[in-house]
Amino acid sequence: MQFDAQWLLLALAPVFLACIAWEAWHLSRTPPRNALDGATDSARYAWPDTLCNAALALMHQGADKLAWLVAVPVYAYVYRHFRLVSWQPGLTAWSALFVAQDLLYYVFHRASHRVRWLWAAHVVHHSSERLNLSTAFRQSLMYPVAGMWVFWIPLAMLGFTPTQIVAIVLINLAFQFFVHTQVIGKLGWLEYVINTPSMHRVHHARNARYIDRNYAGVLAIWDRLFGSYVEEDTRDAPDYGIVKPLASCNPLKATFHEWLAMARDFARMPDWRARLAALFAPPDWCERHDALRLATAMSGAPQGVSENNTEGEFGSRNT
Ligand SMILES: [Zn+2]
Ligand SMILES: [Zn+2]
Repeated sequence: MQFDAQWLLLALAPVFLACIAWEAWHLSRTPPRNALDGATDSARYAWPDTLCNAALALMHQGADKLAWLVAVPVYAYVYRHFRLVSWQPGLTAWSALFVAQDLLYYVFHRASHRVRWLWAAHVVHHSSERLNLSTAFRQSLMYPVAGMWVFWIPLAMLGFTPTQIVAIVLINLAFQFFVHTQVIGKLGWLEYVINTPSMHRVHHARNARYIDRNYAGVLAIWDRLFGSYVEEDTRDAPDYGIVKPLASCNPLKATFHEWLAMARDFARMPDWRARLAALFAPPDWCERHDALRLATAMSGAPQGVSENNTEGEFGSRNT
């Protein structure tokens, strides 16, 4: 009997649940720290948050199974007609696939923070103000609509079969489960090699020094190579969540709130250039656009405000 790679995450569910049970038990035995140190509190499990994460995981799994029905034939078509390389089965091929997919994951993840269309799906993962292993389950059923699967098409061009592609995508995601925890500190030399809990805590933080950093999937090298790496500083504890708090544990609100906000912004923009920017520019583009118009209306000579500047003079680069 052949194992279908699409079931990998479900097959690993008992491992994930055992780790969550251990983490929750461990945290329940950790005495609360003082009010200035939020690290312990934000790690603790709270039923509304955990149940929301579990519901989002189930919704995401359902959407993912449907998405593979569309994506796999596309990968197969590209593999048959446009592949550039033919690999001998073996370790070399799998190593190349692992590195290529991890680089593409970095590209996808970075784009998910800088392109609002993709952020509308990815924001779900960041919208909890807690961070524990159950946060890894917090995913969006809208990833297939946003187009996550499109980012893996180059793997088919590089000569990897649809089965290999699905398998490596899910292996990458499975690894990332283990970096969503506050009970593991820094891991020495491993911090230079792989995505670690410390590295990923930074990624989930909204502190000015941490936001939009550390996009790694498995390998840490991409962030160091492309200038998006920031080390966790124990003097600046991560403050988890998004800049505009979701303030809800409703999985439907978590899934669709940014899509609705984007649709509203799209509808109210004055011209097509601005409407397209509302969909595909950085997530805070509309706020900067509004500020620019306000400044123009008030003085006619805006100072230090530019629609083209994507680095967010107005605080966060995320909504
Ligand atoms: Zn992210
Ligand atoms: Zn994460």
